[in-house]
Amino acid sequence: MAVKVGIPRGMYFYKYYPFIKTFLTELGAEVVPSPETTREILDKGVLYCIDDACLPVKVFHGHAYTLRDKVDFILIPRLTSISKSEYICPKFGGLPEMVKYSVPDLPPLVDTEINLIKNQKGLAKALYKMAFLLKFKNPLLIGRSINTAIRAHNNFMAAVHEGNTPDCVIASVPRRQYKSKIRIGLVGHPYLLYDNFTNMDLIKKLRSRGAEITTPDMIDPHIINELCMELPKRMFWSSGKSLIGSALFIMDRRSFDGLLLLSAFGCGVDSLAGEYIEKQARMYYKKPYMVLNIDEHTGDASFNTRIEAFFDLLNRRNSDAANLSAHGRSIYSS
Ligand code: SF4
Repeated sequence: MAVKVGIPRGMYFYKYYPFIKTFLTELGAEVVPSPETTREILDKGVLYCIDDACLPVKVFHGHAYTLRDKVDFILIPRLTSISKSEYICPKFGGLPEMVKYSVPDLPPLVDTEINLIKNQKGLAKALYKMAFLLKFKNPLLIGRSINTAIRAHNNFMAAVHEGNTPDCVIASVPRRQYKSKIRIGLVGHPYLLYDNFTNMDLIKKLRSRGAEITTPDMIDPHIINELCMELPKRMFWSSGKSLIGSALFIMDRRSFDGLLLLSAFGCGVDSLAGEYIEKQARMYYKKPYMVLNIDEHTGDASFNTRIEAFFDLLNRRNSDAANLSAHGRSIYSS
């Protein structure tokens, strides 16, 4: 019988699931993702995770709990770096221990470290280690599975660059055509942007108001890199770079009407990037910009009010652009 490997639907799930699913399936494992986030999953995450953690880490705990009696192993790699010379948030490094010692009755975790700080070779090394831990020992098969997984990842990214959101590509939902009157850039971490329960269906809400949405994953990463090269200091945090680079791309293009940052309450990377983006928006760009903060207590009603306020601002600027500043009062009002 095939070994069952559980994959919690949280953190970098919406970035790397097609890759890891293909790799494990090609090896001969059965992959079991946790279901989409629900109130129960969130509540279990809040129950088992430490209070100080950010919302995405809490949600992740809930997903691990959901898989506890369904699989032989749960995959929670220790992510240290996903790009050369860059680190990611330290919470990713501590995630295996956090989950292991907080969530009861879990099967063994596969917590192989993935560290690409020096070069991409670290990835193959980690994948061989992971395969060995799962008792797949044929190096030829592992090598072939890695190549197939890379192709699956490239196809996935190509579909996302065409404007499909990763959650829809993963679920094979065909792209729908929306009648869009406005174009909005929506930046944030993938685990906030595409978890539709946690973000209270934000993308659906924006689209239903006639907005076309562009997220960081839809923007060419080379462009994001180039824009970040112009920053006064080199960004060595991958997620901060993605937020700032995509925000600069969006603010700099006339085709975008406004920019939203979806941020997790208590996230250091978000508060730093958010502050920088806001300063840039105030000083150099004339585009409406708003931060939407979420945590486990955020209610639908207050969230909707913020979205409505943002659309009011967009509509007023589109009908009376010269009279309204992107922030606060009209510059011409008395
Ligand atoms: S980057 Fe922010 S939201 Fe993401 S895991 Fe770290 S603290 Fe949490």
